[in-house]
Order: sequence, then structure tokens, then C-alpha cells
Amino acid sequence: MVKEKKSKEVSNYDIDTTKRTYIKDAFSKSGEIELYGWVHDTRDLSKIRFLVLRDITGRLQVVGIKGETSDDIFEKMHDVSRESVVKIKGTLKDSKQAPGGKELNPTEIEIISVAEQPLPIDVSDHSKTELPKRLDFRFLDLHRERAQAIFKVNNTLLQAYREFMEKEGAFEAIFPSIIGASSEGGTEVYPVQYFEKKALLSQSCQLYKQMLACSMEKVYAVFPVWRAEKHNTIRHLNESRQYDFEMAFADDKIVMDVLARCVQHMVKKVLEKHSKELEMYDVKIKVPDVKYLTFHEVAELMKKHNCHVGKDDLSPESERKLGELYPDTIVFVHDWPLSGKPFYIMPSDKKGPNGEQLSKGFDAIYKGMEISSGGQRIHIPELLTQRFKAKGMKVENFKDYIDSFRYGAPIHAGWGMGVERMTMLILGLPNIREAVLFPRDRDRLTP
Ligand code: ATP
Ligand code: MG
Repeated sequence: MVKEKKSKEVSNYDIDTTKRTYIKDAFSKSGEIELYGWVHDTRDLSKIRFLVLRDITGRLQVVGIKGETSDDIFEKMHDVSRESVVKIKGTLKDSKQAPGGKELNPTEIEIISVAEQPLPIDVSDHSKTELPKRLDFRFLDLHRERAQAIFKVNNTLLQAYREFMEKEGAFEAIFPSIIGASSEGGTEVYPVQYFEKKALLSQSCQLYKQMLACSMEKVYAVFPVWRAEKHNTIRHLNESRQYDFEMAFADDKIVMDVLARCVQHMVKKVLEKHSKELEMYDVKIKVPDVKYLTFHEVAELMKKHNCHVGKDDLSPESERKLGELYPDTIVFVHDWPLSGKPFYIMPSDKKGPNGEQLSKGFDAIYKGMEISSGGQRIHIPELLTQRFKAKGMKVENFKDYIDSFRYGAPIHAGWGMGVERMTMLILGLPNIREAVLFPRDRDRLTP
């Protein structure tokens, strides 16, 4: 427990941080510096005391020596609790034993915020606290460098995606998240009372990105999606985000190539910037190769390996098998049976071996899991109307969408790729919930 006396020593609220030095910059500075951060660890060897200070850029060892360091500081180094927030002033000196070759001699320690003890979760790098409990205290779990590493990588992936799309000449779009009718078909939607009307939380930006591609040609978005799937799996969230792309004057082949180059660029950027984080997760990745297989070819391949494939969908087992057979490869499965794809996917002229109608839809499998679905879309209002009817959907709910193709609509194609799923796969995380700051799943609405 923190002693009462200590909490009184917490400084006032008037804290001037303008002279702050980040830990990563401290090593090259001489003279007195001012650091802010969290108490990562303390160690007491009676005559010598260590305190490891942590900020978002790194860690620094602070050393107090009885008789040399002022009594007040020496005492604080003992009493301050782990994860408390402090300001520390001091000068750096060389030290062979210290990580980074330097340690700080403190001339002032100010406690800004005391962390209550005991901490509700284990905040060490390899925390022994199970994921659900860590997520209950996610704000504290994010003090861990290992948790932060995931979101640093996620950030690089987001930036690399945007960078790639800008180079491709695509426009970033912001779409509505409250919609009038299901954008993917099916019933797994969250209803919203929208004044007197019934509305839904968006399942995708599908219809909007298509409408926009029909004027601005190349568009992209990082878009939140909500799916009211009741199952609890390690690869699904009820609220997730997608990297979305849509392009006019393009078919499935063209956008598969865009997706391949995009993922390659994203992985390349992670490799360039995150050797530390990849090492932390013991991950060895490389810029992926690309493989194209038809749905039928995959079905034949899976037969050989005694792996179950659905009639018009890939089982998780067959996705895993593809990951094993083609490691470090984006496997595009195209010429997909039309029955397994949503209403907006363009039927193709081709037929499968059992006479089934094929489509211009595809999935991309990477590291044994679906990362993306895409395809050429239907731009012909009559055909679209026909497909709504075939899927048993109400045509009148989609009037605006169908009408948008009546006034000059190019052929177009695109894809959506899971943001959290991509991060999960790149870092080899065992559960997608690790890859989202505040996950929403069947049982979790807080924090
Ligand atoms: P899956 O078959 O894996 O459930 P899906 O085919 O239902 O996915 P799509 O509508 O094709 O999903 O969405 C595009 C991409 O978004 C998927 O390939 C996946 O990477 C990601 N994604 C889809 N649903 C979820 C979800 N519930 N949670 C997290 N990511 C998702
Ligand atoms: Mg899909």
C-alpha cells in the first residue's frame, strides 16, 4: 500500500512540461534534463536504489546512492509505487551495466500521480493475466510495451495503406455509418431507432464506395463496420474496421493486383520500421509472394489433402491449409461460385465443373486466414434488380443504389480488408481482440 504521507507529496496541478526531454533523445544530451513518465520498476539494494523510468519512446535507469543522492529523493525511490507518474530531473552518466550505456543521477523527483496498489493486472512484458481480465483493465494493459507494440505496428499499417492509395491516385472518402438497408444482405445487423424510422449500423461502406467510384474513379476508406454475429471466435469482432478500395474501369483481376501490391507495401513498411516489435513477438515475416487459384482448383487441392471445402465457401480448415501450402503468400481464390457471393458481385460467363454459375468475386487468404473479399460489381440496374430478387431481398429498399447506376456507370471493382485481422496475422497474435484497443464482442461493451 502507498503510505498516506506519500500521497500528500503528489505535486499540484500546475505542471510545466515545456522543458521535457523524451527518453529516446536523452542519451545524446548533456547537462541537466527533465524527464516525465511512468515508474516501470524499482529495485532496492539498501545502499543503492534503481528506478526504471518509461515513456512512449523507451526506458531509462535512474540510480540513487545513499549518502550521495539527497535523502528525500532516495526515500521517494523506495516509496513510489510501480506505474505511478513522475517527473525526474537529473544528469546522465556513462554506465557499463545500464541498458543503453547510460543512467541518470536524479536531482529531483516529483510524483505527479500515484498508481494504487495492488495493480489489478500483471503489467510485466509477459503478463500472466489472461486476455479477458487484461481487456477489463485495457487502459492499464496499454501501459505494457508489448501491448503498445501492436498499436505501433497497426499505425504503420494504416499509414502505409494511405501512402499506397495516395500513390495510386485514390481519394480518401468518409461514408455514413447509419444506413437505411443492409449493405451485405443477411440479417446480422444492429438496428438503430432513427427518429421515426428504423435504420441500421453499417455492415460495410459497399454501396457508397461503389457510388463514389462511379464518379471519382478510385476511392479508399478506413471504415468501421458492425456485424451482429452471435458467435465468439478468435477472428471475429462485432465492431471492426476495414481497409476499403473501389475502382472504376476495373475488373476483378485489376483489383486483385492492386490488393497484392498494397499488402506488399504495408508489410514492407512494417519490416522497415518495426524490427524491435517483430522481435518482441518472435515473428519472422517477409514481403509476401502472390498466387492465383480458381475456387475449383482449391477444391481439388483440398480433396488431395482431405480438407473440407464448402460448396460455395472456404472452411477455416481449408484456409489454414492454404496458409501451410503457400507460406508468406497472398493466395487469391477467384472464379468463385456466384451462390457464395453477395448480391453486388458480377456473375461471370464461366460455369463450374457441376454446371454452377461462377462469379467475378474472390477472397484473399494470407497466413491461413481470409484477409479480404472483393470482386467486380454489377453496374447494370436490371441485372442488379434480378440479383436482389434471387437473394430474396426487397428491391424497393435499394432504390437509390440501383438508380445510381442509371446515369452513366462504368464497370468497377474493389475489395475490403480487415484492419484488425491484418495486424493480428502480421504479429501472429492468437486472438483478434489483442489487435483492437477496446474490443466489442458478444460479451464486451466496456471499457
Ligand atoms: P469471414 O468469412 O472471415 O467471417 P466475411 O467474408 O464475413 O469474413 P467480408 O464481408 O468479406 O467478411 O469482410 C472483408 C474483410 O473484413 C474480411 O476478409 C475480414 O478480413 C474482415 N472482417 C470481416 N468480418 C469481420 C469481423 N466480424 N471481425 C473482424 N474482421 C472482419
Ligand atoms: Mg469475405
